[in-house]
Parts: sequence; structure tokens; C-alpha cells
Amino acid sequence: MGSEEANAFDAKDAPKIAGELRESFASGKTRSYEWRTSQLKTILKILDNHEQDMILALRSDLSKPEMESYIQEIAMLKNSCKATLKSLKGWMVPEKAKTSMTTFPSSAEIVSEPLGVILIISAWNYPFYLSIDPVIGAIAAGNAVVLKPSEVSPASSALLAKLLKEYMDTSCVRVVEGAVAETAALLQQKWDKICYTGNGRVGRIVMEAAAKHLTPVLLELGGKSPVVVDSDVNLKVATRRIIAGKWGCNNGQACISPDYIITTKDFAPKLVDSLKEVLEKFYGKNPLESKDLSRIVNSNHFARLMKLLDEEKVSGKVVHGGERNETDLKIAPTILLDVPRDSLIMTEEIFGPLLPIITVEKVEESYDIINSGPKPLAAYLFTSNEKLKKQFVMTISAGGVVVNDTTIHLAVVTLPFGGVGESGMGAYHGKFSFEAFSHKKAVVYRSFVADAAVRYPPYTKGKLSLLKALVGGSILGIIRALFGWS
Ligand code: NAD
Repeated sequence: MGSEEANAFDAKDAPKIAGELRESFASGKTRSYEWRTSQLKTILKILDNHEQDMILALRSDLSKPEMESYIQEIAMLKNSCKATLKSLKGWMVPEKAKTSMTTFPSSAEIVSEPLGVILIISAWNYPFYLSIDPVIGAIAAGNAVVLKPSEVSPASSALLAKLLKEYMDTSCVRVVEGAVAETAALLQQKWDKICYTGNGRVGRIVMEAAAKHLTPVLLELGGKSPVVVDSDVNLKVATRRIIAGKWGCNNGQACISPDYIITTKDFAPKLVDSLKEVLEKFYGKNPLESKDLSRIVNSNHFARLMKLLDEEKVSGKVVHGGERNETDLKIAPTILLDVPRDSLIMTEEIFGPLLPIITVEKVEESYDIINSGPKPLAAYLFTSNEKLKKQFVMTISAGGVVVNDTTIHLAVVTLPFGGVGESGMGAYHGKFSFEAFSHKKAVVYRSFVADAAVRYPPYTKGKLSLLKALVGGSILGIIRALFGWS
């Protein structure tokens, strides 16, 4: 664990922290537009003042290239924060709703109210983005927040704890560092929503703990995100975009990185040649030496990836890469062709620089292959065929779909980001974050005029006919019932 604060957190302090934040929330402090925007502006200030510290922390945790740290963490957070600041006032305005004849006269609106105290448990692979982006949403919606960053990225976790303590209103925004014991202690407390990013096994633990308090959950999980490549593509562009989404995102350690490719038997050799050529252009002849590739986060994950790569079932299938350096935790971009569908690499989420390709006669066969597995977080299609694009979008169930690129839907702040089925539940980003951390309260306003006797006892046939006519919406029926005409 990283900072001194981390050592200061004892699992038995969890009730105290939850209690303090609940008190702050109850004071009403977090509800004002001014508090929300001042905290969001403070986040922007942290990002401006500590860009280099974050880049260094990411280098220490993952050897992440500065370019990726800036674009995929810092710039994404700045955009998210700015977009939220720009729209927040509008989001907070109650939304008018139509009323019906049965409540006439009345007006109605939907009021977004904060849920209360939010627990955010985040993952190691994008330690700043995955921690701060949900915090932005929780604050925008007027909540108090406890953030528990991942112990697997200790330098980033320590920096988050230090900076948020130094800059933010700590009566309402708190960072708690820790691993399983600390997270378990936090999970025993009552929260008003838990936002968890990570794997499905722990997602189940989170959901079970939440169920005890009937706490809603936002689960941002993972899965095997497929890339289907048709033969009619612009191969050069498709290749670059596949590489950017796989090895250009944390060396494949990203939840929406391409996990495997499906292409036709005829096209596979061309695709493999193109991938090899561009990989060498991007990362050189010895990619283990490349400064533009992240390392594997730790020896556990390194060993996990080696198990996938060295399984007997996939021996002889490596057509590119395969080099590794256990001391430096580096694995070269690796492509495997025609791996068996029941191999570990095709049944477990890879989350690293290995890319298996499976081949089919026709790309349409990919639908059954994808839909027969757990629903992925993302699905990608490369094609020029309009019919195929439509079919793919309508047939494949996934958290998100991108046609002719990979991973970029994450950067579209107007789109919800989240999984479906095994890849998660709920969504966030931009306005969807505001909604994820708000309760939509239904409010009806009435006056004291026109207090229709029809709803009160004694219940009569005449009253029932009038109500039926009102529900039916027939003016003639209403007149008949009012005047007792049959
Ligand atoms: P991780 O090891 O950092 O774990 C995530 C969090 O869970 C950490 O804060 C950790 O302390 C906590 N945790 C771990 N074990 C726990 C336990 N037994 N009880 C309570 N808390 C526990 O991250 P990970 O799970 O290795 O992350 C990788 C997975 O996350 C992949 O499946 C990936 O696809 C997914 N992911 C999803 C998204 C998304 O936005 N949907 C983003 C990143 C990663």
C-alpha cells in the first residue's frame, strides 16, 4: 500500500468514515450547485497542477507511456469534468412531465435528487480515470463520496489519496486506500450506491454485500470483446485501429481492448501480415525494449498471461511475438492464429497483449460465436458492407459497439458507458453519470380546487361509470356518466 494515510486507515474505521460522510450529506452541503461546481473545478485544478505527478505514478505502476497517460487518463478526465460543468445546471432543472385526465387539474415534474453517500471501488488499469470519473458523476449529482482506489496500482492510489485530501472538501469526499480487508470492511457499511469497477468474481462479492442493505450497484465489469474483420476493409486503417485499441491501450490491459479477432479463413493471412508489419513499425524489432508499450502490472498477472500463452492446446499457434521478460514484466505483442475455441485463451478474458484470431468461412458466423458466450463489454466490426453493419448492431448484444474502429466510444461523452449481462450493470459518463448517482423523484402538484367527489365513498355505479369513462378517454362517455344517461 502506498501513502501514510493508507497505513492510517484501519478497517475498523470504516463505520466512522461512513458515519461522518452521512452526517455531512445530511447537512445538505453537497446539494447546492455551488458546492458541486466548486468541487468539480477543484478536480480540474488537481489535473492541471499535478499532471506530471500522475504521469510519474502511472510510469511507476505500469510503465505507461506518457502519451497514453495524458490522452487516456488526464485529457479524458478534463473533458469529462468540463462537459459536466458546462451542462450541470441544465441537468439539475426538474423535468416537466405530462399529467392525465385522472389527476386533472395538476402538474408534475421529475426531480433529480442525490442518493446520499456513494462508495466507489476502482480498478488498477486506469487508476486515475476509473477513480475520478465516477467521483465527478457522484459530486455532480450532489452526493458525498468515498473512493477506494486499487491497491494493485500503489503509486496512483497513494497519489489519489494525497491529492484529494489536500484539495477536496474532505468532509464530503474521502479516499480510503486498501486491499481486500479494507474493501470488505467498507462493504459492510450501508451506502446509497456502490460503483464497482473490476472483475465479475469480485462484482458478485460487492453485489452480495450491497444486497444486505438493499443498496443499488453500478457494476463496471469486463469480458471478451471481439473484433470481427470482413475482407472488404481498408486494411491499413483497420490494422492501425486494432493495434491502437489493443496494444496502444495499456498493452491490452484495458476493459474494452480487443480480446480476440474473428475473420474469414481467406482473409486471415493478409490480416496477420498487415498486423505484423504495422506492429514492427510502431514498436520496433524488439518490442520488449519499446518505451511505447506498458508493462504487465504485476507478477500475478504476468503468470496468468503466461498460462494462457503456454497452454498445450495453443502450442504452435503463435504467428507473431511471444517474447517475454519476466524480470521486467514485459510481454511483446503476440498474435495466435486458429486457436481452439475451448482453449483458456478463448474462454477467459485475456486482459493483456495476446491476441488470438479464429477463422470462419463467412463473417456472419461470428454472430453465433459471440452470442453463445457471455455478453461482452464491447464488440467491434470492420467492414464496408452496410447490410452487415446493421445486422451486427441488431444481432450482437454488448455494452457498446463500434463499427470500423476500436475503443473510441469511451471518449464520446454523450454516450452511456457500461456493460450488459456478465460485463456489468448500469452505465455512466457525462449525463449518464449524473443519472446513475441521482434518484429520479416523481413529484405531482395539485391545488385545493376541483376536488372531484367521484374518487370518494360512498362508491356508486354512477361514479364507477364516470371513472371508466375517464380511463377510456371518451368525452361522450364522460358526459353520459355525468348526466346519468345510459
Ligand atoms: P483490481 O484487482 O484492481 O480489483 C478491483 C477492486 O476490487 C480493487 O479496488 C480491489 O481492492 C477490490 N477487490 C479485490 N478483491 C476483492 C475482494 N475479495 N473483496 C472486495 N474487494 C476486492 O482489478 P481487476 O478486477 O483485476 O480489474 C480487471 C477487471 O476489471 C477486468 O475484468 C476488466 O475488464 C474489468 N474492468 C472493467 C472496466 C469497466 O469500466 N467496465 C474498467 C477496467 C477494468
